[in-house]
Amino acid sequence: MEIMAETSPDTTENRPGGKSIPSISMLGVKVHRIDMATTLEAIRGFIVEDGPHMIVTADASMIAMAQEDDELKSIINSADLVTPDGSGIIKGARILGTPLIERVSGVDISRHLCRLSAEDGFSVFLLGAEPGVAELAAENLTRDYPGMHLAGTHHGYFKPDQDAEIAAKVRDSGAQVLLVAMGIPRQEKLIRARIQEMGVSVAMGVGGSLDVFAGKVKRAPVWFQNHGLEWAYRLAKDRSKISKVAVLPKFLMMVVKERLFGSRK
Ligand code: UDP
Repeated sequence: MEIMAETSPDTTENRPGGKSIPSISMLGVKVHRIDMATTLEAIRGFIVEDGPHMIVTADASMIAMAQEDDELKSIINSADLVTPDGSGIIKGARILGTPLIERVSGVDISRHLCRLSAEDGFSVFLLGAEPGVAELAAENLTRDYPGMHLAGTHHGYFKPDQDAEIAAKVRDSGAQVLLVAMGIPRQEKLIRARIQEMGVSVAMGVGGSLDVFAGKVKRAPVWFQNHGLEWAYRLAKDRSKISKVAVLPKFLMMVVKERLFGSRK
């Protein structure tokens, strides 16, 4: 199943199987107009197909970062699937006049994949977070989804010169799905550089998701999530998130400019 890269606004993309997934362009970055159900269907297709597939869960901070980082921008635009992860992107798409359907976050996709692993039989490798966190996350997830196939875990505090060694560990585990929780853009760059040698069918960057699954970080209550205020809750809980939150108004201003004056490139 191929969801072709296309960055022009409001483009309908064809993929085999008669279905199509449209995408929009936001500040030169592709984002698919997709809901959770279609995302999971696409990922299940990727798992049974040959070859590796990269999924990006894009939030406003990532799109803002991509304005200064051409490598990151090209990684996002060449990904097989880019989901809208965060209220900033949903607001931005509305401002551009190309609204998206709903938030499809890395943490939610990851949970669904662990559930589907038990049903479909594919295996999942958890890579990232501080030592011990991936193991705790695995313990909680395998308890929540009995029958989930865990291929392995590894923490995310290793140097780039150990990337090959970690990639070999993932390959040797036989994992089909790899969730990488090492933060933006490290996780996206690691996946793009090593996805072939890791031998996985699907790899996805999932930010702080393993901290959430391990119970180290609480997600915002549903009310905050439904009102696009998850960022405010996180900031109130953890002041170190200030730089990530501060990027939001800057991001929305860039989107307003794109709406008024067109794209810069
Ligand atoms: N992390 C990691 N290796 C590093 C730096 C960070 O594994 O070298 C982990 C960190 O422990 C945390 C996650 O990456 O679990 C980043 O979470 P955050 O919510 O900051 O992600 P982002 O906002 O970048 O998506």
